[in-house]
Amino acid sequence: MKEACGVVGIVAPGRDVSHLCYDALYALQHRGQESAGMATFQNEQITVVKDNGLVSHVFADTTLRALAGSFVIGHTRYSTSGSANWTAAQPVFRSAGRSGFALGHNGNLTNTFELADKAGIQVTSMLSDSDLVAELLAREVENGHSLSEALSLVLSIAEGAFSMVVLEANAVHAVRDPYGFRPLCLGLLGTPEEPEGWIVASESPALDVVGATFIREIAPGEMVTITTSGVTSVQLLEPASDKQKLCIFEFVYFARPDTYLMGHQVHTTRRRMGELLASQSHVPADIVMGVPDSGVPAAEGYAKASGIPFGYGLVKNRYIGRTFIAPDQNKRAASVRRKLNPLRENIEGQRLIVVDDSIVRGTTTQALVKMLRDAGAKEVHLRISSPPFMWPCYFGIDTPTRDDLLAANHSLSEMNEFIGSDTLEFITLENLRSAIQLDGECCDACLTGNYPAPTPVALGASRGRW
Ligand code: SF4
Repeated sequence: MKEACGVVGIVAPGRDVSHLCYDALYALQHRGQESAGMATFQNEQITVVKDNGLVSHVFADTTLRALAGSFVIGHTRYSTSGSANWTAAQPVFRSAGRSGFALGHNGNLTNTFELADKAGIQVTSMLSDSDLVAELLAREVENGHSLSEALSLVLSIAEGAFSMVVLEANAVHAVRDPYGFRPLCLGLLGTPEEPEGWIVASESPALDVVGATFIREIAPGEMVTITTSGVTSVQLLEPASDKQKLCIFEFVYFARPDTYLMGHQVHTTRRRMGELLASQSHVPADIVMGVPDSGVPAAEGYAKASGIPFGYGLVKNRYIGRTFIAPDQNKRAASVRRKLNPLRENIEGQRLIVVDDSIVRGTTTQALVKMLRDAGAKEVHLRISSPPFMWPCYFGIDTPTRDDLLAANHSLSEMNEFIGSDTLEFITLENLRSAIQLDGECCDACLTGNYPAPTPVALGASRGRW
């Protein structure tokens, strides 16, 4: 599975906003490594810089110094919809209105075809669902609406997941879909007595890195508008239900461990997942190890609860960007080896409990188990800190169709045999929910098939990419 974008928006008169945005995007690099971009407003003009590659590759110091002004939005991208080439990198720009506007989007719309049809737009002429939203907004602005009005008109007919930042002349808007699928939070630069500006970002560590204070999360359906006068808020869209539907995989896998989501630190919830996983069954073993990164805190929790010592068994190469598409098993094994290397002395002759966050196709896990056995592991007992992944995601995560989801088509023992582990066990849905302590406030559709929002195609059919 791949994350699907990080967004940032900052308004801070007198501060070097492009460098602040750079640091915030750098903290969100894990949410998208395909491309990065930034848009600033100054002298009645919006300037956009974006390209394929990591944040540090796209922005040189000279580029950042040229991106002056008090207003900025930024984006890191992994494409779940549309083209992966640089033209689809974000922010997306349209020239409609006083100085035009630029938009960055984390999420995935589920009714892009209907939206395009209704507006008489050839969907194939759009670079992505975000490009389509920008086009629809531009039309409303050209019809005489303000950008805020345009956002209300367009997003009220958009379905799916969106945490969006939009830059226009002298303002940054940040809006979240009525379910709150993807995270978005607000922070203050400076102090309440002497405020220096405001920041919105996908995850709270992006606030920490620029020295901002976390204020609160943007509510489902809410739009905040930041100007040099401060922050205003409107409930742009009616919340979809009385309970939020934050993606449960933000806790399991996507978000950084130091991120706070709905008041819970992700690292702590991952440890609890491991503790509860250990309570489900007992298998004798010599060492509990986690698959970096998100499997590690869960492994620590497992070790604590089981009394089996925690140890490190895999070293991760931290400098891997977008991994290559690995269509066959040999290439997939090569891409696992590129990313992870076993600590042979910790593994040889040992009975291992290996904690990982999820199994999607199963082929990567299969390659991992083989690598551990080749390194001399005596037994490999796989423990997974999410329940079986049975249904595709339509809300901003890149997952295969049902046909390719291992758990959708195989029993537990068939999966164990396919992967090559000695034993295999998944955390139960009840235990996952209880680890997160937000019962009913998370989307878990890929585990249950209970989609909280309309999906674009009949369940089980293709994802409807274009
Ligand atoms: S379907 Fe799964 S991955 Fe997608 S938003 Fe819901 S919980 Fe997250």
